[in-house]
Amino acid sequence: MARTVFHVDVNSAFLSWSAVQMLRNGYDTDLRLIPSAIGGDEEKRKGIVLAKSIPAKKYGVITGEPLWQARKKCPELVIVPANYGLYSRMSSLFTEIIDHEFPVWQKYSVDECFIDCTGMEGIRGDPIQSAEALRSEIKERLGFTVSIGVSSCKVLAKMAGELKKPDAVSSIFPYEVEKKLWPLPVDELFMVGRSTARALNLMGISQIGDLAKTDPEIMKKRFGKHGLSIWLYANGIDQEPVVSTMREEPKSCSQSVTLPHDMSCEKDIIPVISRLCAALAYRLRRLGKCCCEVTVFFKDDKFVTVSRQQRLFRPTDISGELFEKTRSLFRLIYDGRPIRALGIGFSALTPKEGCAFTLFDDPANLGRKFAIDAAADSVRSRFGGESLLPASALISPTFEHLKRFEPNEGHIRTVCPF
Ligand SMILES: [Mg+2]
Repeated sequence: MARTVFHVDVNSAFLSWSAVQMLRNGYDTDLRLIPSAIGGDEEKRKGIVLAKSIPAKKYGVITGEPLWQARKKCPELVIVPANYGLYSRMSSLFTEIIDHEFPVWQKYSVDECFIDCTGMEGIRGDPIQSAEALRSEIKERLGFTVSIGVSSCKVLAKMAGELKKPDAVSSIFPYEVEKKLWPLPVDELFMVGRSTARALNLMGISQIGDLAKTDPEIMKKRFGKHGLSIWLYANGIDQEPVVSTMREEPKSCSQSVTLPHDMSCEKDIIPVISRLCAALAYRLRRLGKCCCEVTVFFKDDKFVTVSRQQRLFRPTDISGELFEKTRSLFRLIYDGRPIRALGIGFSALTPKEGCAFTLFDDPANLGRKFAIDAAADSVRSRFGGESLLPASALISPTFEHLKRFEPNEGHIRTVCPF
């Protein structure tokens, strides 16, 4: 049966991710629209260009070159240090959307996934429609763009994704191989490195089509097994399955935020805890877990971290209960000092199905709590994690101020890692 395979690739991933983050933090320029690059420490004349914007590319800035050299080409180049913690969070948000929509997908690199969506036409429309919907969903919800290649196998899907960038869907279906794949230079074929390309050029093979039409026996004799593989790729033949990425079973989750200003008043701090709790409890329920332990931690204005953990009476995923617990734990450890950052954690996670309730629980009351969370979650899953908040999160005068510090999707950004 013919398969349908997508290759999804984030456009200039590191640069886009930093740009999105900086815009959310109130930086008024979009790095993607100016000559900019992600790199190491320029001062020490160390570091290379890890990613560049399209305007930087126009100045001839290339990935992998030393920063000082890039600066020479483009004196106004804005260089932003790499933030790997951010990239790994963005990468998870990206795969989370894919995981939500598709049962079979494979993480190929930090910013690339293969998806096997064979037989999903009934739910998602034809493959191009389906890819377009995914492209715009990622853009809308996460603020960065992807290119999606659509085909019947992994190699062709990956090659298709290269055809149009950024923010685009392109296909190379088997019947389009001759028209779209064959005219490309042979060094653009998947798995053809620089030295193989040189050797192929010497054999008079300059386009992928030339390679496709070469006798496979010649390829095998000259390049061994690899020669046969690239001959198959040039002909659009690739049987490699999309191997499902196993989502790691999380043991704990946490959420923290750097406050817009130091806070020492409980009536300002509690709404922040409520907000963190709402977002984290939502994540917990999406994971299908209950937690047995909660942690509250904060960093004061002298950068001293205070943290306390407490075992729960029984495992739970109920927002209201988790908020009550974290609030009382915070009150237990807080002594009135100015706080610059605040976080909560849920740990000792256990599958929800296995969670037993106790004799002291009133089933009707518990049922009400589950129903409230389920209703709130259905709103959040449609409109974003911050679309619905408990009233306890809204009474703070700093609410509006905080708002701009937080992205969607129930992930309150960690500015300062604990
Ligand atoms: Mg990429």
